Amino acid sequence: MSTQGLDLQCRELVELVTDYLTGVMPASERARFEQHLLQCGSCRRYLGQMRTTIGLTGRLRDDAVPPPPVAAKLLDAFRRRKQGGAK
Ligand SMILES: [Zn+2]
Repeated sequence: MSTQGLDLQCRELVELVTDYLTGVMPASERARFEQHLLQCGSCRRYLGQMRTTIGLTGRLRDDAVPPPPVAAKLLDAFRRRKQGGAK
């Protein structure tokens, strides 16, 4: 009961792309996935789009933009350093 050697369909790839990008896909499946990518330009483009989407979402979650008061304080500190810091 081996699935090796079976071609991965484009539809299958679209369903698996999240697993692939988040790293939960088993190595054997990764190999098939990447093999299909080598042969299929439209799936490569799709993967690129998904990578961008997931990357942006991850970044937004990772370091949130500071709330306005904090940002203002930081800006103030930077400005003071620039004006009075030079010796
Ligand atoms: Zn494809």
